[in-house]
Amino acid sequence: MSYSVSPIGFVRSCFKEKFAIPRQPQLAPAARGVLELLAPFDTGEAVQGLEQVSHVWLLFLFHQALEDKPRLKVRPPRLGGNQSVGVFSTRATHRPNGIGQSVVRLERVEAGKLWLSGIDLLDGTPVLDIKPYVPYADCIAEARNDIAASAPPLIPVSWQPAALEQAEQHGRRLGEPLVQLIEQCLAQDPRPAYQQPLPERRYGARLWDVDVHWHYPQPGHICVLELTHE
Ligand code: SAM
Repeated sequence: MSYSVSPIGFVRSCFKEKFAIPRQPQLAPAARGVLELLAPFDTGEAVQGLEQVSHVWLLFLFHQALEDKPRLKVRPPRLGGNQSVGVFSTRATHRPNGIGQSVVRLERVEAGKLWLSGIDLLDGTPVLDIKPYVPYADCIAEARNDIAASAPPLIPVSWQPAALEQAEQHGRRLGEPLVQLIEQCLAQDPRPAYQQPLPERRYGARLWDVDVHWHYPQPGHICVLELTHE
């Protein structure tokens, strides 16, 4: 048996590549984007009432991780990448049907467009549905998850003075909180757990239209080296 679904819109996001995207929503409140709705959902009727809602669930496709053969076990980064567990006990991107879900902040609503923050979505992500967050039903005080019991620990992020100046300038140009975005994303330590970061190794990721370069001067500490922009 098979069913087909079609996107109701696509996300235009600050994240232009998978690397350095936080592993869950809300971890980087400065991560912003716009959900652009497709016809017939773009006239305003379908989003009427959403201005009364602070957060929404997005159901979407991990369009850059779709696979033909479903995996039964995965190695979540959360467990160091070397322990495998059942796919349904994780939020891994490689999963049957490739469906993701994220609770994100709804900043602004207009016909055909939803402004979002706290996102963990790649640019171009196809969205299948939007549902309002319902605090009395969705917030479960006694809920537990012993695989991911609390938010990942943050690591300190420092700046080369010129890099900070560049980030402030690009932030003003983009009209985006770029310094905060970089700090919030890098503090999650995007490096794969198995990689030992030597100080001379440079890492990079694109946020908006800016390439951010950093290194680990010592383990567990990031320093932003420079920003480049073509
Ligand atoms: N909150 C969602 C969930 O639980 O279903 C996503 C969790 S998943 C672990 C988060 C990762 O998905 C991000 O770090 C990013 O690398 C990846 N990602 C985001 N959008 C994607 C997309 N459209 N295709 C493939 N991977 C994506």
